[in-house]
Amino acid sequence: MSDECIFCKIARKEVPTQPVYEDHDLLAFDDIRPVAPVHVLIVPKEHMVNLNDAGKNDVPLLGKALRLAAKIADERGVAESGYRVVVNNGEQGGQIVPHLHFHLVGGRPLSPGLG
Ligand code: 5GP
Ligand code: ZN
Repeated sequence: MSDECIFCKIARKEVPTQPVYEDHDLLAFDDIRPVAPVHVLIVPKEHMVNLNDAGKNDVPLLGKALRLAAKIADERGVAESGYRVVVNNGEQGGQIVPHLHFHLVGGRPLSPGLG
């Protein structure tokens, strides 16, 4: 947990957020600036900056986050049409919020490949 981290604050309910999914170690909520009709963030409640901080013990959590992305994609009706799951890591990876999160993006055609 970090005092200043926005996603820690959301996980602690200090910032009101409508959860898409929540359990003891994961929280999912809609991105505040969606880039597509479906744009959900899946966030471990424990503070980790990015995948560089994830250790062996975090492997089940990471797997669970990916399975949750597929489940939410299904619930949001984009499982068949297709979607993207992205983790931005560090400055050149385009990471703005320094708390590990998975972007689930779908509901419109996304450009092939990665820029
Ligand atoms: P990054 O570039 O770090 O992978 O993406 C961070 C994402 O978090 C951005 O898509 C941004 O819109 C989203 N975001 C930043 N602050 C908030 C917030 O307070 N609430 C929500 N729901 N999303 C946020
Ligand atoms: Zn945090």
